[in-house]
Amino acid sequence: MYNIVLFGPPGAGKGTQSEKLIEKYGLTHLSTGDLFRKHLGEGTELGQLAKKYMNEGRLVPDEVVIGMVEDKINDTKDARGFIFDGFPRTTAQAKALDEMLSHHNLEINGMIALDVPEDVLRVRIKERGKTSNRADDQDDEKINTRIKVYLDETLPVADYYASQGKFKKINGVGEIEQIFLDITSVIDSY
Ligand code: ADP
Repeated sequence: MYNIVLFGPPGAGKGTQSEKLIEKYGLTHLSTGDLFRKHLGEGTELGQLAKKYMNEGRLVPDEVVIGMVEDKINDTKDARGFIFDGFPRTTAQAKALDEMLSHHNLEINGMIALDVPEDVLRVRIKERGKTSNRADDQDDEKINTRIKVYLDETLPVADYYASQGKFKKINGVGEIEQIFLDITSVIDSY
């Protein structure tokens, strides 16, 4: 049973690596970005609420995100563990996650951060924007906002896990397969 936080800026490759990790370890993928996009597609109230934040590249308010994650954890029966992707994105979310997991006698094994320089991120996000249909991938100003929000609000989450001895950084540039191997060697050390 592993509960892993896959961390990194927008465009770092969290989604790509999550897919491979799910297959290898049988974990449940919990991507808050994917969950919001699903709500958006289904036109739910939550989707409507999240829309303006997402389209501007800003963070959806903590209480909204935390409630959605809590529902997903409670609804997932017999999980062999979770890969948290795009969550927690603030220290308040990280604290709430610890609290939620403790109700199930669970905890985070570790945070694995994908390290990718900013210029590479910009190229990747724009490239993804050609096919992703995501408004936030296609506009320089929105991409800038997301990177700034990451640096200002999300980066402190790494310190939160580092202070618990649970932080590990991996080089996120190079072959997808090599990055995957590096991640699995961290997970296999838990
Ligand atoms: P990326 O990592 O490429 O920026 P995501 O798919 O993880 O994209 O998230 C898309 C958008 O959804 C974010 O820019 C934000 O508006 C919203 N979002 C996703 N996860 C969170 C979160 N944990 N807290 C607040 N907002 C979030």
